[in-house]
Amino acid sequence: MSKLKVLLYDIENTPIVVTTWGLWEQNAIEKLEEWYMLSYSYKWLGEKEVHVVALPDFPGYKNDKSNDKKLVESLHKLFEEADVIVAHNGNQHDQKKSNARFIFHGFNPPSPYKEIDTKLVAKRYFKFDSNSLNNLGTYLKIGNKVENSGIKLWRSCMEGDMKAWKLMKKYNRQDVVLLEKVYLKLRPWMNSGTKINTEKGSCESCGSDHLQSRGSSICQGGIKKHRFQCQSCGRWKTINYNNHKEKCQK
Ligand SMILES: [Zn+2]
Repeated sequence: MSKLKVLLYDIENTPIVVTTWGLWEQNAIEKLEEWYMLSYSYKWLGEKEVHVVALPDFPGYKNDKSNDKKLVESLHKLFEEADVIVAHNGNQHDQKKSNARFIFHGFNPPSPYKEIDTKLVAKRYFKFDSNSLNNLGTYLKIGNKVENSGIKLWRSCMEGDMKAWKLMKKYNRQDVVLLEKVYLKLRPWMNSGTKINTEKGSCESCGSDHLQSRGSSICQGGIKKHRFQCQSCGRWKTINYNNHKEKCQK
């Protein structure tokens, strides 16, 4: 298969509940509740459907509202299926938090996948005022996150308030909708380490065959390369001149 399976996802987890002796710049005295995963949303690139999977979707939720084993197991299965995993701030948050729950529940490491963190991509190639998902959505005019009451919403979900859960799912879902839009905007700018399509003669980002010849360039070591630009997404591609010539003469 030349086209890699790309998973876009976002997790929501609970805060750690602790006690302190004060309210400002305090160290936690003791941990009352361990954090756990509340929900995650995901989408396969190229498919329309956006999925949200949350704790109340699993049997036994009413008796044990903080048991995320089944939820985490279902996410682990998705990781196993994916060749590439895209998340915003995934390298710092979503991937590591997910791994923490995988190992906690005794799962093995998922099969290897390539990580794309859109926050790091934003940081690397651009100077935006903020690299938050919401700010990128505003700046690129592609949408925003769902507004909510912040920690109150998280606490209400932890208490099993189904109205709160409805909003949480909506919030979680929109994060992946926005993530995909941001990812598609940034994708042509990413370097060759982020190719998701390996078919020769087509765009390494979007897989389009509509490549336009745009002259040549001399690369390191004096190798002449043909330059192409994808007419669908704008990504550049270079092909070794000799390989290309052989290909054309065939
Ligand atoms: Zn393209």
